[in-house]
Amino acid sequence: MTHPLFYDEVKRHDHAELARRFAQAGEDAVLRAICSAEQGDALTEDDYIALLSPAAAPHLERMAEAARTLTRRNFGRAIQLFTPLYLANYCTNRCVYCGFNTGNDIARRKLSMEEIDAEGAAIAATGLRHILLLTGDAPKLTGPEYIADAARVLRKHMPGISVEVYSLTEEEYALLAQAGVDGMTMFQETYNEELYAKLHPAGPKRDFRFRLDAPDRAGQAKLRSLNVGALLGLDDWRMDSFFTGLHARWLQCHYPAADIALSVPRMRPHVGVFDDVHPVSDRDLVQIITAARLFLPTAGIVVSSRESAQFRDRLMRIAVTRVSAGVSTAVGGHAGAPAHDDDSPQFDIADPRSPAQMSEAIRALGLSPVFKYWEPLEGESFSCGCAPFRKDSRA
Ligand code: SF4
Repeated sequence: MTHPLFYDEVKRHDHAELARRFAQAGEDAVLRAICSAEQGDALTEDDYIALLSPAAAPHLERMAEAARTLTRRNFGRAIQLFTPLYLANYCTNRCVYCGFNTGNDIARRKLSMEEIDAEGAAIAATGLRHILLLTGDAPKLTGPEYIADAARVLRKHMPGISVEVYSLTEEEYALLAQAGVDGMTMFQETYNEELYAKLHPAGPKRDFRFRLDAPDRAGQAKLRSLNVGALLGLDDWRMDSFFTGLHARWLQCHYPAADIALSVPRMRPHVGVFDDVHPVSDRDLVQIITAARLFLPTAGIVVSSRESAQFRDRLMRIAVTRVSAGVSTAVGGHAGAPAHDDDSPQFDIADPRSPAQMSEAIRALGLSPVFKYWEPLEGESFSCGCAPFRKDSRA
């Protein structure tokens, strides 16, 4: 049996045809989709297109109400907290929209294991128990072994360790799983293959397919938590939001025991120049998030500190289930002052709240901050539980 790939799913859709479907979706289709969601029915691909279409814009209030109901039904009042830890900012890629782009003249470094230990202890002291490890794409300097070593150091501080690093092979994801990593985030940046080639002119990240199917390889390697997203603003947000939702649903179907989530990052200012941004307004982002919730009632939705405190509070009341807190996007930065005065962040954050402040804000919204949402048991091996797609059944 041939293992299906999400790439085949992406290729099933022609962008011009998709644009036509967004433009032609009418109010009837929008109201039908909202009604189906309100009645607890699974939405179709056509429903999702209608909810992302311009025709849905006048119905945002009703979509938000339906999204709020589905979120409380599936997640209660829980809001999961985590913080990113940048291990290194060496990078060999030339992603034109990123402050760590190899062409940008910034200070580069990576944390030693002693520094990582200190970062883990400092983060644990805030009460957080989930961490997201990030590196640039420089396997010679920050290869999978380095990331695995970091995870082994951090395990004593954190039960939950996810990675947002360059695309790995299935064997490399398995190596990280053995070291204590239980989750991964992969931003495809854009699902538009042609645009992707223009935005990634050099470096290993140019390989669209290898990146696209990374979450699938992580699932095969039995990581418990798989998170996907596009960098909103690179392409028409309707297109990339649609493919992100399809990707999340595809992963839910193939890895039913895994925790599948999607992120909705918008472009933020950074060192370097990238002017060709497709604007995504606050209202657009509300539509993206509510449509995602109605299409994917049980998927986590993550909003990072790229968004303002006020806006994140609003989104948590509707559909968001996981937020970052105490964020620094420079290398290290949790255990004290940055090691170098000229440390550059990958991008500027808009919500600087500490874990304690975030927690207080979440409670003020009538929601419950959750600092620990995963505990690996002694000797436990991660399992996706999806027998038809286990490695031994791959072609
Ligand atoms: S987005 Fe990632 S891979 Fe691209 S330049 Fe930035 S750090 Fe490197």
